[in-house]
Amino acid sequence: LLGADGRLAPTIFAEMTALATRTGALNLGQGFPDEDGPRAVLDAAKHAIDHGRNQYGPGRGAPELIDAIIEHQRRFYGIGLGRGDVLITAGATEGLAATMLAYLEPGDEVVVFEPYYDAYAAVAALAGAVLVPVPLTAPDFQPDPDRLLRATSPRTRMILVNSPHNPTGSVFSEETVRHIVRIAERRDALIVTDEVYEHLVYDEQHVPVAAFQAARERLVSISSAGKTFSITGWKVGWIMSTPERIAHITAVKQYLTFVNGAPFQPAVAVGLRLPDEHFQTIRDSFCRKRDILTRGLRKAGFKVNDAMAGYFVLADAAPLGIDDASALARRLPELAGVVGVPLSAFARPSRRDLRSTMRFAFCKSDDTLHRAAEQLAALR
Ligand code: PMP
Ligand code: GLN
Repeated sequence: LLGADGRLAPTIFAEMTALATRTGALNLGQGFPDEDGPRAVLDAAKHAIDHGRNQYGPGRGAPELIDAIIEHQRRFYGIGLGRGDVLITAGATEGLAATMLAYLEPGDEVVVFEPYYDAYAAVAALAGAVLVPVPLTAPDFQPDPDRLLRATSPRTRMILVNSPHNPTGSVFSEETVRHIVRIAERRDALIVTDEVYEHLVYDEQHVPVAAFQAARERLVSISSAGKTFSITGWKVGWIMSTPERIAHITAVKQYLTFVNGAPFQPAVAVGLRLPDEHFQTIRDSFCRKRDILTRGLRKAGFKVNDAMAGYFVLADAAPLGIDDASALARRLPELAGVVGVPLSAFARPSRRDLRSTMRFAFCKSDDTLHRAAEQLAALR
């Protein structure tokens, strides 16, 4: 996380997007779509701007968005929430930051599954907490139950779950989730679950951690509108928990951002209330994109995992005789006109098993993906 000067450095995503902009390469690095989401959602934001939703809103978020989140939880998962169980945040990122800052004291331990999304390590460091990574390994990227148990201690304050998982595209099995819940009970730890890819699960239905009754005693669930509606730039997310925990986290949130973009919130409410077919269409379209990129990368000689969910595939360059994906990432614009992210950016340097693997985003137009596939064939 730290640059040569010992300060927080620009994220790998910012660095790789800058590289793509500088070189004109196709950006399969940072996970953002290059196509707009549902028209109705975009129009609803314009409507809100034209109809006076331009000042600070209520601290917990726009009431119609809170209601839409409650309806969405009931419709997709059969989970019943009240208005006091929800807080709107500036993307999942602020939800995570506010939750971690609210609960972590210096020296507390946070268990994460490695590779992990970069913000987890950064916010743990900001809170003075100690990150305890549990390795996930190819091909299935499920945590080993014994290693997970051994990673916990009486100082474990939080277990941070991310399923569907960025960057591996894996989905934690029910058995894995049950095991996490049992360990959290034993250590009296909070479970924080980041489910921003909840609607992008390709071969099965998403089961939220909140569907496990035992988890709800100690759970903060986090999601976001960015991925589901291809509006990553709007930064609208939410957290769900008990009213007591939501109040505790809101107390921190009010000093991070106070409130979030007013006109985007009613527009996300429109999105969450779209008919089921819309969610199916979004999922089918990303599933097709996953297949285009997976085929292309395999043809180019990479060993590619089967992504079950999310925006990304992992491509191991070892079969091409390349063992350092970090060096490859920096040369890829010149070699193939494509940008990707080295998987090592999501793990400690000791994870040598991840060294030759890149993460590529497939949340791009079919045309971009076909072109990337053709260009990557030059690596052979
Ligand atoms: N968690 C994960 C796993 C992510 O991949 C991302 C971003 N792509 C975020 C959180 C951040 O989401 P948001 O943009 O809603 O803050
Ligand atoms: N979550 C996105 C990714 O994994 C990027 C978000 C960011 O740039 N921080 O690529």
